[in-house]
Parts: sequence; structure tokens; C-alpha cells
Amino acid sequence: MQESAEPLSTGRPARRRIYHIEDLTKTYGTGPAAVHALRGVNLDVDEGEMFVLLGPSGSGKSTFLNILGGLDRATSGHAHFFDTNLTDLDDDGLTEYRRESVGFVFQFYNLIASLTAHENVSLITQISKDPMDPAEALAMVGLKERIKHFPSQLSGGEQQRVAIARAIAKRPRVMFCDEPTGALDSETGVRVLDALDRINREIGTTVFIITHNAVVAEMADDVVLFGDGRIVGRRSNATRKPPLELRW
Ligand code: ADP
Repeated sequence: MQESAEPLSTGRPARRRIYHIEDLTKTYGTGPAAVHALRGVNLDVDEGEMFVLLGPSGSGKSTFLNILGGLDRATSGHAHFFDTNLTDLDDDGLTEYRRESVGFVFQFYNLIASLTAHENVSLITQISKDPMDPAEALAMVGLKERIKHFPSQLSGGEQQRVAIARAIAKRPRVMFCDEPTGALDSETGVRVLDALDRINREIGTTVFIITHNAVVAEMADDVVLFGDGRIVGRRSNATRKPPLELRW
């Protein structure tokens, strides 16, 4: 059999670039009170990657993801999502980008207590263009048997998986997860990470995970280390460790 002429340096199939970030800065406040949260960040990300962002508290990770997710605006620089420069969009444009392309998962689950798991996910699918069936989204995160439960009847890890199902049900191109296991013990946390890993592998969603926990980096394709508003390190893992094998 003839060998492919394509260079296979990473061992991964060629992918489209989803983000091209150039010299991004963010300053909160002005004058002597100014906080330089981002001091010039450059990053390229291919579609379908699993990305982990590490770095000490206050190093700019959340600010960076909030700008990429269209929740906040940069002070200068560019953030391209495919051919769209997010830094050029007006408020309506950013809202549409968030609604159609982005799913968010935060440390606290923000579920509505009076609605079942299925109803919490349905709230989003009702306003989406091409949503999954809520039951399918809940099955993807391993909660097929729990769809009629209320948040108070679910563990912290299960509630976080409902929040992931809610984020994924609109089929976003990208998921931003800010400390998704921050409130969970190791055993529960790895199940949450496993749900994110499955979504990334099965439907090709690009996933960004911010974490304080360096162990989580082992499940990523790429790991970026933030320090004082800059990227101070980046590495690729030759293989991704299955989240269920992670312990901390
Ligand atoms: P990390 O996610 O790495 O902990 P952040 O992006 O949350 O870092 O914060 C980076 C810096 O920006 C910190 O010094 C933080 O205090 C500051 N900061 C974040 N959000 C705001 C804000 N809304 N107003 C003023 N300063 C902020």
C-alpha cells in the first residue's frame, strides 16, 4: 500500500481552525486602579480539540474565556471565530454568537430548582434552531434514568451533568467550562469530565476547560499555562488519558 504524502506530524487528522487569537488584551478600570488582566495573548485552536487552561488564580484564564465566549469584550487585539472577528461584533452580534455557537458550564450549576432535569434542558432546546432531544442530551451525560428528577434529588456531580446536557443540547460548536469540577470530589469530578470527553469525541465539540487541578491536563489534546495575563507555556499530549482514570 502506498504511503500518504500528507505530513502527519501530530498524528491527528487535519482540522479547521476555530479560533485565531492575536495580541488580545483586557484592562479593567483606568488610571492607577487599572488591572491588566490580559497583556497580549496569542493562540490558535483547531476545531474539535480538547483544551485545558491551567494557571494560578488571577492569571487571566476566566477573562480570556469570557472574551472568547462573547460574555466580555477585549480592550485591544483580535479574536477570530472562523471568519468572524468577535472583537468587531456589536452587542446583537455577540448575543447571536453566544446563542448559536457557544455552551457554558460554570462551577455552580445554576439549575432551576422547581424544574426536573428534562425541563431544565428543555428550557434551552425550546429556543434553539436545531436542538437535540433533551432526553438524548441527558443520556449522553449518563443521566438517562434521572430525567424526571429535580435538582434537589440529584448529587452535585449529577447536577453538573444536567448543566452539561443543557449546554450541549443546542449543539454548540464550542463549550467553555470554568472550573466545572471545582465543587466536586475526585470520584464525582471524573464523571463530569468523562461527560465532557464523550461530547468532544462523539460530536466533535471543541471544549475548553479551566481548572486549578493540573491532573485534569492529562485528558487534554493541548494544555495552555497562564501566568500574569499571558500564556507562559503550551504543550500537546501525545495521548489523552481517559478521565475515569484520573485521580486527585
Ligand atoms: P483567573 O481566571 O486566572 O483566576 P481572572 O481572569 O478571573 O483570572 O482575573 C484576572 C485579573 O483580572 C485578576 O486580577 C482579577 O482580579 C481581575 N478582574 C477580573 N474580573 C474583573 C472585573 N470585572 N473588574 C475588575 N477586575 C477584574
